[in-house]
Amino acid sequence: MKATDATRYFFDAAAERLELSESIRDLLLMPLREVQVQVTFERDNGELASHVGFRVQHNKSRGPMKGGLRYHPDVDLDEVRALASLMTWKTAVVNLPYGGAKGGIGVDPRSLSYRELERLTRAFVDQIHDIVGPDTDIPAPDMGTDYRVMGWFRNQWEKYHGFNPSVITGKPVEEYGAQGREEATGRGVGTLTTKLLKRLGHKPEDSKVAIQGFGNVGSHAAKFLHEAQFPIVAVADVSGTYFNADGLNIPDMLRYMLNHPRQSLEGYDKCDVLPSGAVLWLDDIDVLIPAAIGGVINVENSDAISASVIIEAANEPILPLADKRLADRGVTILPDILANAGGVTVSYFEWVQNRQHYRWSLDRVRQELDKTMSDAFENIWQIAQQHEVSLRNAAYMVGIKRVRRAAELGGWT
Ligand code: NAD
Repeated sequence: MKATDATRYFFDAAAERLELSESIRDLLLMPLREVQVQVTFERDNGELASHVGFRVQHNKSRGPMKGGLRYHPDVDLDEVRALASLMTWKTAVVNLPYGGAKGGIGVDPRSLSYRELERLTRAFVDQIHDIVGPDTDIPAPDMGTDYRVMGWFRNQWEKYHGFNPSVITGKPVEEYGAQGREEATGRGVGTLTTKLLKRLGHKPEDSKVAIQGFGNVGSHAAKFLHEAQFPIVAVADVSGTYFNADGLNIPDMLRYMLNHPRQSLEGYDKCDVLPSGAVLWLDDIDVLIPAAIGGVINVENSDAISASVIIEAANEPILPLADKRLADRGVTILPDILANAGGVTVSYFEWVQNRQHYRWSLDRVRQELDKTMSDAFENIWQIAQQHEVSLRNAAYMVGIKRVRRAAELGGWT
């Protein structure tokens, strides 16, 4: 199934409930602009390398478009298109004054040296600098990109347009980045996991957690939940699934990963090590947090999941038919457009600080993030109860309704 078919399925389920006409559905689904570019740079050995880059700007009814940049070999136009539309609903669900966009390059960043990564990024900016900007489209980090990439992006963009750090978020803290941006997505995942389990009547210390992905999102979610007394029994990255039925030593694993040359858990030997994919199918798990790539849970493998709660920290980890099958089994799913909105929320705070030339403390960032995420969660929870629908359906209904209203107030075009 294509990524856009999956987002379309969830969109249609909510649009049905909202009784949207076909013409409004078309207007809300169709991206405003899609750009595909050649990204050519010089490798360290003097050879040229060319990759395909994309930026999809989906909707700007609620404000400048916002969305991450992904560097991954599987990046293609369909995936970027789907992720751009998710950003439109996500920014609306947490009520940020933004629309949605996404971009990326079909490249494996782990195959590049530090300087090659920089040259690739600068070459990408050369191709798309005129369609992004602080009032039009503001990129941010996603899978395979980080604060260094954001710093190079800003520097290259400013060569064309002059000083304006609010063109991109997720920058280094020393270079107009916001304190708390790096941890924000994982922290938001942790905050909402705690709130959801409380609503469901589960205690943290009795809720065994498994996390797929130990990068930016997965590692910060693990840290937050470990500190909140959840036993984290499994974490996985591309190198394997690291398992201890009595709970892993997360601070030790974080130290190990951060000191590893590829920021991996490869070689960590203070627990059992299973194949990477095993994390999804472990017995006796209460909370499963996919925090790596999309499409990992499908209708064939969903029955093997033991968890009764799934938190979608990654974008689109569950395909539509699996979503239905899991719901029929009584599994509660916290959808991506709510669960992982902490990152774009603190990106918004970074953009606001840049525009005001003013710096917030880490405490303030955390307080405002917790409030934004908690308010959005309570709203979606109430709507799900009221309409007797899933949390995903409720989140899509809220997001779509807000975007539709803004489009209408703006005169539709
Ligand atoms: P990252 O590149 O920092 O980390 C990805 C992690 O997933 C790594 O540990 C990697 O080893 C692991 N991984 C990749 N493929 C895997 C596989 N097949 N099995 C097991 N582990 C695998 O990426 P990230 O920024 O943490 O993003 C993770 C997900 O969260 C993505 O879906 C992204 O779109 C989503 N997301 C990220 C942010 C953000 O602020 N970074 C915000 C919202 C959503």
